[in-house]
Amino acid sequence: MPETSIIIAIDGYSSTGKSSFAKKIASAYGLLYLDSGALYRAVTLFAMENRFVQNGVLDISGMAPFLGDLNIHFQHNSVGQIQTYMGGRNIEADIRTMAVAANVSIVAVDPIVRNYVNGLLRSYGQKGGVIMDGRDIGTTVFPHAQLKLFMTADSMVRGQRRADELRAGGEQCDLQEVLQNLQERDYIDSHREVSPLAQAPDAIVLDNSHMTFQQQMEWIGGILKEKFGLEPLKR
Ligand code: C5P
Repeated sequence: MPETSIIIAIDGYSSTGKSSFAKKIASAYGLLYLDSGALYRAVTLFAMENRFVQNGVLDISGMAPFLGDLNIHFQHNSVGQIQTYMGGRNIEADIRTMAVAANVSIVAVDPIVRNYVNGLLRSYGQKGGVIMDGRDIGTTVFPHAQLKLFMTADSMVRGQRRADELRAGGEQCDLQEVLQNLQERDYIDSHREVSPLAQAPDAIVLDNSHMTFQQQMEWIGGILKEKFGLEPLKR
Protein backbone atom coordinates (compact mmCIF):
# COMPACT_ATOMS: atom_id res chain seq x y z
CA MET A 1 0.00 0.00 0.00
CA PRO A 2 1.28 3.48 -0.76
CA GLU A 3 2.40 5.44 2.30
CA THR A 4 1.17 8.75 0.93
CA SER A 5 -2.24 9.75 -0.38
CA ILE A 6 -0.78 12.23 -2.83
CA ILE A 7 -2.19 12.42 -6.35
CA ILE A 8 0.32 13.45 -9.01
CA ALA A 9 -0.97 14.40 -12.46
CA ILE A 10 1.43 14.51 -15.40
CA ASP A 11 0.10 15.93 -18.65
CA GLY A 12 1.80 17.01 -21.81
CA TYR A 13 2.52 16.45 -25.46
CA SER A 14 3.03 13.05 -27.08
CA SER A 15 6.40 11.38 -26.56
CA THR A 16 7.73 13.77 -23.96
CA GLY A 17 8.62 10.78 -21.79
CA LYS A 18 5.66 11.16 -19.42
CA SER A 19 5.10 7.46 -18.87
CA SER A 20 8.75 6.47 -18.30
CA PHE A 21 9.06 9.38 -15.86
CA ALA A 22 5.80 8.54 -14.08
CA LYS A 23 6.70 4.84 -13.82
CA LYS A 24 10.06 5.62 -12.26
CA ILE A 25 8.54 8.05 -9.76
CA ALA A 26 5.90 5.44 -8.89
CA SER A 27 8.47 2.77 -8.14
CA ALA A 28 10.79 5.13 -6.27
CA TYR A 29 8.03 6.55 -4.03
CA GLY A 30 5.68 3.54 -3.76
CA LEU A 31 2.83 5.03 -5.79
CA LEU A 32 0.38 3.30 -8.10
CA TYR A 33 1.06 4.25 -11.72
CA LEU A 34 -1.84 4.64 -14.15
CA ASP A 35 -1.25 5.17 -17.86
CA SER A 36 -4.38 6.88 -19.20
CA GLY A 37 -3.04 6.80 -22.77
CA ALA A 38 -2.92 2.99 -22.55
CA LEU A 39 -6.64 2.97 -21.74
CA TYR A 40 -7.43 5.13 -24.80
CA ARG A 41 -5.15 2.92 -26.90
CA ALA A 42 -6.91 -0.23 -25.62
CA VAL A 43 -10.36 1.15 -26.53
CA THR A 44 -8.91 2.07 -29.94
CA LEU A 45 -7.57 -1.45 -30.48
CA PHE A 46 -11.01 -2.83 -29.64
CA ALA A 47 -12.62 -0.35 -32.06
CA MET A 48 -10.19 -1.29 -34.84
CA GLU A 49 -10.49 -5.04 -34.38
CA ASN A 50 -14.28 -4.83 -34.41
CA ARG A 51 -14.51 -2.26 -37.21
CA PHE A 52 -16.06 0.44 -35.06
CA VAL A 53 -13.42 2.80 -36.45
CA GLN A 54 -12.94 2.89 -40.18
CA ASN A 55 -11.50 5.53 -42.48
CA GLY A 56 -11.09 7.99 -39.63
CA VAL A 57 -14.72 7.71 -38.44
CA LEU A 58 -15.80 6.20 -35.12
CA ASP A 59 -19.15 4.41 -34.85
CA ILE A 60 -19.72 5.26 -31.20
CA SER A 61 -23.32 4.08 -31.04
CA GLY A 62 -22.18 0.65 -32.27
CA MET A 63 -19.27 0.46 -29.81
CA ALA A 64 -20.75 2.08 -26.68
CA PRO A 65 -22.75 -0.98 -25.48
CA PHE A 66 -19.51 -3.01 -25.30
CA LEU A 67 -17.44 -0.57 -23.25
CA GLY A 68 -18.70 -1.77 -19.86
CA ASP A 69 -17.48 -5.31 -20.59
CA LEU A 70 -14.00 -4.58 -21.95
CA ASN A 71 -12.31 -5.21 -18.60
CA ILE A 72 -9.16 -3.22 -19.36
CA HIS A 73 -6.67 -3.42 -16.52
CA PHE A 74 -2.98 -3.37 -15.66
CA GLN A 75 -0.80 -6.19 -14.29
CA HIS A 76 2.90 -6.51 -13.57
CA ASN A 77 4.78 -9.23 -15.46
CA SER A 78 7.45 -11.45 -13.93
CA VAL A 79 10.13 -8.78 -14.38
CA GLY A 80 8.02 -6.04 -12.85
CA GLN A 81 6.93 -4.28 -16.06
CA ILE A 82 3.37 -2.99 -16.23
CA GLN A 83 1.30 -4.71 -18.91
CA THR A 84 -2.10 -3.67 -20.24
CA TYR A 85 -4.77 -6.35 -20.46
CA MET A 86 -8.16 -6.47 -22.14
CA GLY A 87 -10.09 -9.36 -20.62
CA GLY A 88 -7.54 -12.18 -20.31
CA ARG A 89 -5.41 -10.97 -23.23
CA ASN A 90 -2.12 -9.10 -22.85
CA ILE A 91 -2.42 -6.23 -25.36
CA GLU A 92 0.68 -4.26 -24.34
CA ALA A 93 2.51 -4.72 -27.66
CA ASP A 94 -0.63 -4.39 -29.79
CA ILE A 95 -1.57 -0.97 -28.38
CA ARG A 96 1.88 0.56 -29.05
CA THR A 97 1.83 0.16 -32.85
CA MET A 98 1.70 3.00 -35.38
CA ALA A 99 -1.68 1.69 -36.57
CA VAL A 100 -3.19 2.28 -33.13
CA ALA A 101 -1.39 5.65 -32.85
CA ALA A 102 -2.98 6.68 -36.15
CA ASN A 103 -6.51 6.07 -34.80
CA VAL A 104 -6.28 6.83 -31.10
CA SER A 105 -6.94 10.57 -31.23
CA ILE A 106 -10.07 9.94 -33.31
CA VAL A 107 -11.40 7.54 -30.67
CA ALA A 108 -10.24 9.65 -27.71
CA VAL A 109 -12.18 12.68 -28.97
CA ASP A 110 -15.50 11.03 -28.23
CA PRO A 111 -17.19 12.16 -24.97
CA ILE A 112 -18.60 8.66 -24.26
CA VAL A 113 -15.12 7.14 -24.55
CA ARG A 114 -13.66 9.88 -22.34
CA ASN A 115 -16.33 9.37 -19.75
CA TYR A 116 -15.64 5.65 -19.69
CA VAL A 117 -11.86 6.11 -19.30
CA ASN A 118 -12.25 8.85 -16.69
CA GLY A 119 -14.51 6.58 -14.64
CA LEU A 120 -11.80 3.88 -14.60
CA LEU A 121 -9.09 6.38 -13.67
CA ARG A 122 -11.13 7.92 -10.86
CA SER A 123 -12.06 4.56 -9.40
CA TYR A 124 -8.38 3.54 -9.30
CA GLY A 125 -7.29 6.91 -8.00
CA GLN A 126 -9.88 7.70 -5.36
CA LYS A 127 -7.76 6.55 -2.41
CA GLY A 128 -4.75 8.54 -3.58
CA GLY A 129 -1.15 7.36 -3.62
CA VAL A 130 -1.25 7.50 -7.42
CA ILE A 131 0.59 9.05 -10.31
CA MET A 132 -1.20 9.29 -13.64
CA ASP A 133 -0.10 10.56 -16.99
CA GLY A 134 -2.15 11.78 -19.93
CA ARG A 135 -3.51 14.92 -21.50
CA ASP A 136 -6.27 16.09 -19.14
CA ILE A 137 -5.44 14.54 -15.78
CA GLY A 138 -4.69 17.83 -14.00
CA THR A 139 -7.46 19.74 -15.76
CA THR A 140 -10.36 17.24 -15.83
CA VAL A 141 -9.76 13.87 -14.21
CA PHE A 142 -8.12 15.07 -10.98
CA PRO A 143 -8.35 18.87 -10.93
CA HIS A 144 -7.53 18.74 -7.19
CA ALA A 145 -4.31 16.75 -7.64
CA GLN A 146 -1.73 18.01 -5.15
CA LEU A 147 1.00 18.11 -7.78
CA LYS A 148 0.56 18.80 -11.49
CA LEU A 149 3.33 18.67 -14.05
CA PHE A 150 3.11 19.67 -17.68
CA MET A 151 5.77 18.08 -19.88
CA THR A 152 7.03 19.39 -23.15
CA ALA A 153 10.09 19.00 -25.42
CA ASP A 154 11.25 20.00 -28.93
CA SER A 155 9.24 18.13 -31.54
CA MET A 156 12.40 16.81 -33.22
CA VAL A 157 13.63 15.35 -29.93
CA ARG A 158 10.22 13.80 -29.32
CA GLY A 159 10.04 12.30 -32.82
CA GLN A 160 13.47 10.74 -32.46
CA ARG A 161 12.60 9.27 -29.06
CA ARG A 162 9.36 7.78 -30.39
CA ALA A 163 11.08 6.33 -33.48
CA ASP A 164 13.76 4.75 -31.25
CA GLU A 165 11.04 3.24 -29.06
CA LEU A 166 9.16 1.79 -32.05
CA ARG A 167 12.37 0.36 -33.50
CA ALA A 168 13.31 -1.13 -30.14
CA GLY A 169 9.91 -2.84 -30.20
CA GLY A 170 10.71 -4.29 -33.63
CA GLU A 171 8.53 -1.97 -35.73
CA GLN A 172 10.00 -0.48 -38.92
CA CYS A 173 9.29 3.22 -39.04
CA ASP A 174 10.19 6.39 -40.83
CA LEU A 175 11.13 9.43 -38.71
CA GLN A 176 9.08 11.80 -40.90
CA GLU A 177 6.01 9.61 -40.53
CA VAL A 178 6.48 9.41 -36.77
CA LEU A 179 6.90 13.20 -36.54
CA GLN A 180 3.79 13.75 -38.59
CA ASN A 181 1.77 11.40 -36.38
CA LEU A 182 2.97 13.21 -33.24
CA GLN A 183 2.05 16.58 -34.70
CA GLU A 184 -1.36 15.40 -35.85
CA ARG A 185 -2.15 13.84 -32.48
CA ASP A 186 -0.98 16.94 -30.62
CA TYR A 187 -3.15 19.09 -32.87
CA ILE A 188 -6.28 16.95 -32.43
CA ASP A 189 -5.62 16.52 -28.69
CA SER A 190 -5.20 20.28 -28.17
CA HIS A 191 -8.16 21.35 -30.29
CA ARG A 192 -10.90 18.88 -29.37
CA GLU A 193 -14.01 20.18 -27.63
CA VAL A 194 -14.05 17.84 -24.65
CA SER A 195 -11.11 18.21 -22.24
CA PRO A 196 -8.41 19.21 -24.70
CA LEU A 197 -4.74 18.87 -23.87
CA ALA A 198 -4.01 22.01 -21.87
CA GLN A 199 -1.67 23.15 -19.17
CA ALA A 200 -3.49 23.54 -15.84
CA PRO A 201 -2.85 27.04 -14.43
CA ASP A 202 -1.23 25.50 -11.35
CA ALA A 203 0.95 23.00 -13.26
CA ILE A 204 4.75 23.15 -13.12
CA VAL A 205 6.27 23.00 -16.61
CA LEU A 206 9.05 20.54 -17.33
CA ASP A 207 10.79 21.00 -20.69
CA ASN A 208 13.08 17.99 -20.90
CA SER A 209 14.50 18.58 -24.42
CA HIS A 210 18.00 18.84 -23.01
CA MET A 211 17.72 16.93 -19.75
CA THR A 212 18.82 13.40 -18.98
CA PHE A 213 16.45 11.05 -17.19
CA GLN A 214 18.64 11.28 -14.09
CA GLN A 215 18.39 15.08 -14.11
CA GLN A 216 14.61 14.84 -14.33
CA MET A 217 14.53 12.46 -11.35
CA GLU A 218 16.70 14.83 -9.32
CA TRP A 219 14.42 17.72 -10.26
CA ILE A 220 11.23 15.92 -9.16
CA GLY A 221 12.97 14.54 -6.06
CA GLY A 222 13.66 18.13 -4.97
CA ILE A 223 10.02 19.13 -5.48
CA LEU A 224 8.59 16.09 -3.68
CA LYS A 225 10.86 16.63 -0.73
CA GLU A 226 10.45 20.36 -0.48
CA LYS A 227 6.69 20.57 -1.02
CA PHE A 228 5.48 17.28 0.47
CA GLY A 229 8.31 16.00 2.65
CA LEU A 230 8.48 12.83 0.51
CA GLU A 231 11.63 10.75 0.26
CA PRO A 232 12.25 7.79 -2.05
CA LEU A 233 11.52 4.39 -0.46
CA LYS A 234 14.48 2.67 1.16
CA ARG A 235 15.24 -0.63 -0.60
O1 C5P B 1 0.02 8.95 -23.86
P1 C5P B 1 -0.19 8.27 -25.19
O2 C5P B 1 0.62 8.84 -26.29
O3 C5P B 1 -0.10 6.78 -25.10
O4 C5P B 1 -1.73 8.60 -25.54
C1 C5P B 1 -2.30 8.16 -26.74
C2 C5P B 1 -3.45 9.08 -27.12
O5 C5P B 1 -4.52 8.93 -26.17
C3 C5P B 1 -3.16 10.57 -27.16
O6 C5P B 1 -2.62 10.99 -28.39
C4 C5P B 1 -4.54 11.16 -26.95
O7 C5P B 1 -5.26 11.19 -28.17
C5 C5P B 1 -5.22 10.15 -26.04
N1 C5P B 1 -5.21 10.57 -24.64
C6 C5P B 1 -6.15 11.49 -24.23
N2 C5P B 1 -6.24 11.84 -22.92
C7 C5P B 1 -5.41 11.30 -22.01
C8 C5P B 1 -4.41 10.38 -22.41
C9 C5P B 1 -4.31 10.05 -23.75
O8 C5P B 1 -6.91 11.98 -25.04
N3 C5P B 1 -5.56 11.62 -20.71
